Amino acid sequence: MAISSDHLIDAAVRLNLIEPEILAQLRIDARRKRVDLVDTVTAHYRLPISALYQAAAELRGLSFINPIAVSAPSASLLKKVPQALARRKLVLPLFEDEQGVLVATSDPDDRATLETLQRLLGQRIRVAMAEPDAMHAAIGRYLNDPAQNLASVETLAETDLIAMLNDILKEAYLRRASDVHMAQEESGLRVRLRVDGKLQDYFTNADGAVANGLISRVKVLADLDIAEQREPQDGGMTYYLAPPIDTEFNIRVATAPTRLGERVTMRLLGQEAQSLTLPRLGMSEHDMLEFRKAIRKPFGMILLTGPTGSGKSTTLFAALQEINHPELNIMTVENPIEYVMDGISQIQTGPKISFASALRSLLRHDPDVLMVGEIRDEETADVALKAAMTGHLVFSTLHTNTAAGTVGRLVDIGCEPYLIGSTMNAVIAQRLVRRLCPHCRKPRAATKDESELLGQGGSDVVVFEPVGCAACQGRGYRGRLGLFETLWFDEALSKLVSSGCSEDELERHALADGKLNLMWADGSVKVLAGDTSLSELQTVAVKRH
Ligand SMILES: [Zn+2]
Repeated sequence: MAISSDHLIDAAVRLNLIEPEILAQLRIDARRKRVDLVDTVTAHYRLPISALYQAAAELRGLSFINPIAVSAPSASLLKKVPQALARRKLVLPLFEDEQGVLVATSDPDDRATLETLQRLLGQRIRVAMAEPDAMHAAIGRYLNDPAQNLASVETLAETDLIAMLNDILKEAYLRRASDVHMAQEESGLRVRLRVDGKLQDYFTNADGAVANGLISRVKVLADLDIAEQREPQDGGMTYYLAPPIDTEFNIRVATAPTRLGERVTMRLLGQEAQSLTLPRLGMSEHDMLEFRKAIRKPFGMILLTGPTGSGKSTTLFAALQEINHPELNIMTVENPIEYVMDGISQIQTGPKISFASALRSLLRHDPDVLMVGEIRDEETADVALKAAMTGHLVFSTLHTNTAAGTVGRLVDIGCEPYLIGSTMNAVIAQRLVRRLCPHCRKPRAATKDESELLGQGGSDVVVFEPVGCAACQGRGYRGRLGLFETLWFDEALSKLVSSGCSEDELERHALADGKLNLMWADGSVKVLAGDTSLSELQTVAVKRH
């Protein structure tokens, strides 16, 4: 048994997770398309259904738990509850302490079942709420009755595997996950989703045989050799999620053999595609103004730097989106293609074609704007810089820590300083931090040290801490935010770089001229605004000047 859809929707509205006007529209949509209203709402807002259950729990003043994450229930408690009751009503006693027995349920409004349970257990109970899928998984795991266990291989048909994979990818989409990890463990299949840079468990009660079936299914879809289980393989697939989600996306698939069997990692590409605009990335107004100037120049080089997963390609594509115009021939060389964009010729390189040779052939197609996925070697750097010098606007990425370090890195791989100096428009170093959930973040006075770190003299500095609520599924953070270190080139800086200056000199001059804004400074502003926490800033940047 579970709480009704109306109750879930009502709780979400009352906790401001969804707006009444949008809900009214979604009701009409759901009726017209004959799809479930809860599914329509979660698809529209990209909220997992657990957020609605958590909202319902919050409204009733109950804690919201994942029964599997809590310690395994004691055998003596389980013995007192008939299995049929647990399965039918989705209730499970978990542990007892001085306040009584903690009982997990999907429907705290079902007083009759809870009273029965209290009678059976013979003591006071406390109720915590959990979503039905998590209850099914927990009951499947703890009430170990294989005949009842849906996800064991004898009872599982191909269609069930297809549905299971679809459920996992749907949940990944709703949680806005970037990656899905499926690995075999002693207890069976373990699925984890990477959300805002951190892994979260997604509970299934699938055993090892089901895990094998599911992994084979992914390999078939990704066009991999299913007989080969001892060598790592890479592939890709396109996956479509049915209405109300109605979205198709590309997935990069990698497999690897482990001690307990194969594991699969799926990267969901282009997940931020809808939010690909410069303002949404969290760039400050001043930086945005400068960035827009830099990307509107007819030629020159714009570089983005940062580690993998720092959102560089999102920024690049937001920039291309912004200048995308029928009058311009925009071409890209990528591996793999992350975002599909209308009006842009995107070319995928493979192991046989290097970025440099692909770029050279692109130059024969009369481009105005070029984007090269990454500069890794001298050859690519050389072709890119020369293209920028001969009247093309060139975008690319590089792996360096700081904006100024990019110049040194290009010199290290063999580029001439004058070529760098005369072509560079802008360098942007980027990191992602988690965005504080605006529903539950809590202000507090900063300590003296913290105020100093944030460059504030006064005594009334306020910072915000994560708390956790239904909107953020208890994490205190929701979504991510870019932090930027920006270096805007003008004539003076170009001359300085052309003359072969050191990284340190470049930084000092650029700072003095107001052409360099450091990552820490950008992050401090965002911490003071309550967009993120100081601890998040400290995970990606240090105060340098
Ligand atoms: Zn929250």
